[in-house]
Amino acid sequence: MPPPSGQIDAALASTRADFRLRARSAGESADQADAHWIDVHRHGRKRSERDINQRTNENGTIKFTLGLGDGHESESVILPMTGRTGRERLTLCLSSQVGCALGCGFCETAAMGFIRNLTVAEIIDQWHVARFRLDAAISNIVFMGMGEPMENLDAVLEAIRILTDRSGPGIAPSRIAVSTVGRIAGIRKYTDFMTHPDFRRVRLAVSINAPNPDIRRELMPVTKADPMPDLHAAMSDWIKAGGKPILVEYVLIPGVNDDEDHPRQLAQWLDKLDCRVNVIPYNPRRNSPWPAPDECTVTSFVDSLRDRGCRVHRRKTLGRNVMAACGQLGNQHIRRKTPLRVPGD
Ligand code: SF4
Repeated sequence: MPPPSGQIDAALASTRADFRLRARSAGESADQADAHWIDVHRHGRKRSERDINQRTNENGTIKFTLGLGDGHESESVILPMTGRTGRERLTLCLSSQVGCALGCGFCETAAMGFIRNLTVAEIIDQWHVARFRLDAAISNIVFMGMGEPMENLDAVLEAIRILTDRSGPGIAPSRIAVSTVGRIAGIRKYTDFMTHPDFRRVRLAVSINAPNPDIRRELMPVTKADPMPDLHAAMSDWIKAGGKPILVEYVLIPGVNDDEDHPRQLAQWLDKLDCRVNVIPYNPRRNSPWPAPDECTVTSFVDSLRDRGCRVHRRKTLGRNVMAACGQLGNQHIRRKTPLRVPGD
């Protein structure tokens, strides 16, 4: 018999241990609770009345939005990516918030302002829809959709505990990455989480996007609250605590951060950090003041970083025509009108 819907909702938001515990303290059978939890997460038995809007582009990138019941939506993207072995894997990019308060100049979500955090169940639900409704064999997860995950870190960490449970979704911790624009308190808390033996191999990605503090402050107001030297220290401490090499993201924007001296400055800043740089050609958001970079600029930027000893990967542009590419998530119909403030600014 399927579990009652209230229990399914609770199972979505709980780790297996917590779900068992709650059942026990309510005088219910812990074993039955366990079976319900596994049924929900392993076989996708859950209510599925959420509105799903789905768009696919010619590269196989799928963007989908889920109605949240309060008029808002989460947005997620499934990206086909070829791994180092040449095998194609599906990466699910999850949102952690509706909108975002941090106001990065290149980002579509920033134009919405911050609306609210997603709950643990709403984060997990994105994986459920991808896995069981869209039938996508997801092998990698990145918290890189709408919102700054470090601003909703408790819910993100709880979601990681659920996603990595071998009796449930069973995603390997090494295949989960949390991407931040550099919220230092969040990086430090995530570092503590990573030192737990079960989560040793989770990944950290940091969007740097600038070769020096002046450009970064212009592009990413968060730099005023979390300056680059402190960010560098938090990233070094991640490595010292045993974290895997950091994925450093650099969105290449014509006329902003693509000067011929910028690779030198970036390589200098990254010196001694165990990291890999992902160069992402800018995807123009709506009403963008900047175009996408030309191929020649991207190639010479990547080569110049490589010549300076950086490990570099050039990200393929996926999903641009469905507004699913990096920095392009965000519902254009729910723009907030009030000016943005950076927390801690
Ligand atoms: S890039 Fe990330 S942190 Fe910056 S505004 Fe967009 S969603 Fe927020």
